[in-house]
This record gives sequence, structure tokens and C-alpha cells, in this order.
Amino acid sequence: MHDNLNQIISNIIDADGSMNLGEFISTALCHPEYGYYMKGAPFGAGGDFVTAPEISQMFGEVIGAWVIDIWFQMGKPETLNLIECGPGRGTLMSDIMRVGKSVDGFVDAINIQLVEASGSLQVMQKDALKDYVVSWHSEISEINKGAPSILIGNEFLDALPIEQLMRNENGWQKRVIVLDENNGFKFTWAEADHKLKQLLPSETVSNKIYEVSPARNLFMSSCIDLLSASKGVALFIDYGYIKSHHGDTLQAVRKHEYTNVLEDIGLSDITSHIDFEALSRHVCELGGHVSPIQTQGNFLKALGIEQRLIALKNTAMKTNDTGMAANIIKGMDASVDRLIGNDQMGELFKVICVKNSEDITPAGF
Ligand code: SAH
Repeated sequence: MHDNLNQIISNIIDADGSMNLGEFISTALCHPEYGYYMKGAPFGAGGDFVTAPEISQMFGEVIGAWVIDIWFQMGKPETLNLIECGPGRGTLMSDIMRVGKSVDGFVDAINIQLVEASGSLQVMQKDALKDYVVSWHSEISEINKGAPSILIGNEFLDALPIEQLMRNENGWQKRVIVLDENNGFKFTWAEADHKLKQLLPSETVSNKIYEVSPARNLFMSSCIDLLSASKGVALFIDYGYIKSHHGDTLQAVRKHEYTNVLEDIGLSDITSHIDFEALSRHVCELGGHVSPIQTQGNFLKALGIEQRLIALKNTAMKTNDTGMAANIIKGMDASVDRLIGNDQMGELFKVICVKNSEDITPAGF
């Protein structure tokens, strides 16, 4: 466990009696000094987990084609805010921009705007995007609304905190964190406040855990504000479920293995699945338009990832070293299978598009 973070959380619990789950998650992940994301390099084979842009450049390339198509549908505006929330190492944005280089006027039109909580990840993003002008923000509300915008978030929403609720004989309870006998932490239940209960699905059963996320809703509200003011479109890709249901999806991962959420605090990535039905409902309540919920596999296939694979394989085959070509091709096949395979990321990960204008028809849905 991270000693400083441990102490900070203990102090809050001492002062308040307990800590809400959402506050615990945001402290563990985003404490400005000791939060998990502040340490810099959680991604990749040597890190804690691997994300889609890090699996293959083809992911970013087909998303690049998606962005370019929207830019065309917008009438090729001379200035476009291309926003990414939680850009990690900057790989997705760099792949999008590389594809954009082949389209006249696209790169010149783009203002890259990154929303990133971690200073050390900002340094990596700066390096990955050194050929472009980039601005950083801590909230999307800071982004100027003077130009049209396209916003992307891959595995961003899953890092935003949740609360867990359960109804028992005492009514609705929320999950909180308290100190255990050994100065560690444990979960317990406390009376849930009205605001959280309002976010529950209309039909619920007793003694089951339901997850709600005021933080995701708040983020979505500022996203809709931005899209309304700037005639924009947003794309979110994340793991989650299509219909609201009960279940505990809170998880901590360290070095590619699940670990206890209350141990390794600040050293493990804590995420939870997105309730896409609740999120879509919230967007509609705010007056935004939301696409049907698509699986990542179908989305990437509709955008042509399999054709892109064939093109890259054909290029690889041109090399004289047939052994090396065979290895490269094997790797490419495995990466695409990982991204679109039903038993891999293809079904678990979902994609939604949020927009303000009826005029734009995003590809892939
Ligand atoms: N999109 C990247 C990284 C996903 S990990 C990829 O697919 O590889 C989550 C990212 O969101 C990290 O960059 C993390 O630092 C950032 N992040 C998490 N919570 C955040 C918050 N509240 N505000 C801004 N950035 C946040």
C-alpha cells in the first residue's frame, strides 16, 4: 500500500467517520501527488494493463477515418477542436493525426485539446504529439467553445468514480470505507442520501449491489454543454453493459492481475463497468442525442478494420524476409482478434456517440 495515500485516506476517515466510495476512488487514482495515474506509465506489457490503442495502430487508424468523415460532414471547418479525454500515452491521438496527414487541410484545421489529470502522462503525451500544437486542460469546461469539436474518450469513463447502493431491511444503503482493526481499510454500509437514490433504475431488487455514477453524469453534463455550444460530436469507448442491472463491477488491476481494491491503493488501477443505458438516459434528459449502443467489435468492423488488416498484411508480405513477414502477420492477426473477437474485447467493450446536431451521421452505428 502507498504509505502517504494510506495516511491521507485514514485522516479523512478519522475526521468524517467514513469515506464515500467515489471519494476513495478519485483519491486513489487522481490524488495530485500520490494518485495512481500520477506515477506515469501504467500502460503496456510492462505496466498494469493494455488498452486498445496500445494493442494495435489499426485501432487509432480506423478511429482517425471516423474523425475525418465527421470533419467532412461538418463541411471541413478551418478550425476544429479535436479533444481527447484521458489520452494515456497519446498513442490514439498520434495515430489519428498520422491518418489525417493524407487528407488535405485536415492537420492544419486541428487544435488538439487534451483533458488529462496526470502531469507525468502529460509529459508522455507532449512527446508523442511533438509535431502538433497541443493544449492541456483539467476539465472539458475549460475548452473554448468557439470552434466545432470532436471529442474522444477511450477507457476514460471507467476511471470516473462510482457509488454502490444496496437495499436491505434498513432501506437503501451506500458502500463506504472505514478503518479495520489492523489499520487497514474495509467496506461497510451507511444510509444512502436521496441524490444517489434518484440515480437508481426504476425497478430494483433487494440485497443486490447497484452502481451509480454522479461523476460520469457530471462529466456528461459538461460534455453536452460543450457539444451544444460548438456543434460537436463525442465518441466514448469503454467496457460496460447495455441494459442497467445489478452487480458489483468495481475492480483493481496491478501488473495484469486483479487485486483487492482496498490494498495496493495508488499502485493499482481501479475501474468499473459503464452502465450505458443509464448514461444514454442522462444524455437524453440533458437534451443531447445519443446513438444506439454498439459493440466495439461491430463498430471497428463497420469502420473497416479488417480491410485495414489486409492492406497492412499485403505491405508486410512485400519484404524479402519471409520468416519475419510471417511473424509480423501473425502479430497483426492476433491484435485485431483481440480488438474485435467476441470472446476478447469485441463484445465486452461498447461504443456510443453523443451529439447535439441531427445533421451529422457518425459512421459505425
Ligand atoms: N485513453 C488511454 C488511457 C486510458 S487510462 C488509452 O486508451 O490508452 C485513463 C486515462 O484517463 C489516463 O490518461 C488518466 O490519467 C486519465 N484520467 C483519469 N481520471 C481522470 C480525470 N478525472 N480527469 C482527467 N483525466 C483523467
